[in-house]
Amino acid sequence: MNNKIYFTPGPSELYPTVPQHMQTALQQKIGSISHRSKQFQEIYAHAVSGLRQLLQLPDNYEVLFLASATEVWERAIQNNVEHESFHLVNGSFSERFYETAQELGRAAQKYEAPFGQGFDVNDIEVPETAELVALIQNETSSGASLPVSEINKFREKASPDALIYVDAVSSLPYPAFDFGKVDSVYVSVQKCFGLPAGLGVWLLNERCVAKAEALLGKGLSIGSYHSLPSLLSKAKVNQTVETPNVLDIYLLGQVVEDMNRKGAETIRQEADEKAAAIYAFLERSKTFSPAVESPEHRSRTTIVANTTVPASEINKWLAEFNMAVGSGYGKHKEGQIRIANFPAHSPEQVNKLVQKLEELFG
Ligand SMILES: *Cc1c(COP(=O)(O)O)cnc(C)c1O
Repeated sequence: MNNKIYFTPGPSELYPTVPQHMQTALQQKIGSISHRSKQFQEIYAHAVSGLRQLLQLPDNYEVLFLASATEVWERAIQNNVEHESFHLVNGSFSERFYETAQELGRAAQKYEAPFGQGFDVNDIEVPETAELVALIQNETSSGASLPVSEINKFREKASPDALIYVDAVSSLPYPAFDFGKVDSVYVSVQKCFGLPAGLGVWLLNERCVAKAEALLGKGLSIGSYHSLPSLLSKAKVNQTVETPNVLDIYLLGQVVEDMNRKGAETIRQEADEKAAAIYAFLERSKTFSPAVESPEHRSRTTIVANTTVPASEINKWLAEFNMAVGSGYGKHKEGQIRIANFPAHSPEQVNKLVQKLEELFG
């Protein structure tokens, strides 16, 4: 039996109702049903309608299931960029999307902020020729985030035809997006949704679909089974092209239903309160300090701290008390810790973590 609470930024602690839903899924033999059955179509439709409600998604948006957010990067470039994309980069995940565009032979440009810093959006000029503008709401590697009010400024900055993409992998459902101001938002479920990994969710509007069709019309390749037209032809009938992760789609529908019962507003308010408790501790600690200097760019959902005690040492101590935090990312592995503050983490668990860190390290 593993009783550890995972404050790692993904995979992370599972949403508390997952074990009971997993049990039901086994009893109903969800792992054995056909992905062409009516039962699967109902599971699919339940997940989609729950997400629409939780995120207040307008009707001009589609909900598509892919393997992961990493896959969304590749499909986004293939389907929505003929020549050029533009990326805001301030850490490893935003950098990776930029590299994906290059690897697919596109002329990718980037506006870079140092690791651990947010963006001063007023300083950013979006090239007229950028067809896709890649924003990152929450850079999980560094703990820097881009407020929704800043994201909303890009519609005016970009050319009217440009598609605005937002990586919200480690924050949704926390940010309340204005879906009229962006064109696509995507996540993987093993972060804020508190589910086992193996499912990406791609939200996109009709402008993204039109662009894919235009590229196809020009005789360009937009991929095969996961091209947008192919994905949409099956999504229309609550199915997927390939045999999908049926179990995860089922669990997503159930967890989102639980989240809707709790209410998005309550989830956001709780996240704010837990984040405030963690940051207040980091400010008064003699071992830790917030890694992101400017308070308005500090993530509420993946909180990164500089530490004078190596991260591996911290986790060795925390393990005694059945808790784990994330180590720093890349070259910050030992010099930083990352604390996930997801809907799965109860205020009591967060308080216990803060208490223990304070007791052990001051
Ligand atoms: C984890 C993460 C990804 C990649 O997710 P996968 O599920 O590994 O594909 C992309 N962007 C951000 C911000 C992430 O935190």
